[in-house]
Amino acid sequence: MFPECVNELIECFKKFPGVGQKSAERMAFSLLNDFDEDEIDNFSNSVSNIKSKIKKCDVCNCITDQDLCFVCSDKGRDNSVLIVVENSKDVFLLEKVGNFSGYYHVLGGLISPFDDIGPEDIDLKGLFDRVRNTNINEIIFVTRSGIEADTTVMYIKRCLDDSNVVISRIANGIPIGADMDYIDSLTLESALNNRKEVLD
Ligand SMILES: [Zn+2]
Repeated sequence: MFPECVNELIECFKKFPGVGQKSAERMAFSLLNDFDEDEIDNFSNSVSNIKSKIKKCDVCNCITDQDLCFVCSDKGRDNSVLIVVENSKDVFLLEKVGNFSGYYHVLGGLISPFDDIGPEDIDLKGLFDRVRNTNINEIIFVTRSGIEADTTVMYIKRCLDDSNVVISRIANGIPIGADMDYIDSLTLESALNNRKEVLD
């Protein structure tokens, strides 16, 4: 019904979370009607830059446009404690809470045998290297709840059994199946303060 390039745009917008056919059509027509040529240029440059300029931090895997992300390049933080998260966006969420002064490690996923995601598919090697080569004495696991998180935590715990690192995870606060995006700062702050050590 629409010209082909409008259809292509609609299909692109439909890939965004929570965007269905109708919203995607509104967004496509908004681009067509409300954006002038400069704004379209800026928009399309931003879209192409997100892949060409964004890469993973050499140390923690968080997204960055430098070699080191904004956290790892801050040498004034506490290097004895590391928060382990699933995705880069969790780092930004935790930084918004603002009461954590250590560093992060982004796994890029959780172990999930049902989805064929094994320990070698996420960045555990980078995590273990950091534990061995730095002064980390506590790892705090901050993720959504669920069997994938449990499996990943227990795997990490087993692999680090010969080290003196305390492994803890946030208790309660993050409801089972809840998306990290919808957890408010206060809930997250209290979850972090009430973390529990992971025991065998
Ligand atoms: Zn980093």
